[in-house]
Amino acid sequence: MVLDDVQKICQLISTANMVNIESRKAHVETVKQDVKARDDKVKGDICPWCGATLIKRQGKYGSFKGCSTYPKCKFTFRG
Ligand SMILES: [Zn+2]
Repeated sequence: MVLDDVQKICQLISTANMVNIESRKAHVETVKQDVKARDDKVKGDICPWCGATLIKRQGKYGSFKGCSTYPKCKFTFRG
């Protein structure tokens, strides 16, 4: 029956959407945690990329924190 097929497809679509929303939420949470962990390290003057010390640098557009091993590590942070 055609109607049955339509209902099946509708169910499949709504199930797929729910899965997507859940994995999207999980992804957003992971990103949030990553950003928080990075910010904590930066606050402690630790480069989140390589673990070296961050030093204050003076750039064209103001001061920023940069990795002390630059140019080996190009991590910079403004904020
Ligand atoms: Zn670094």
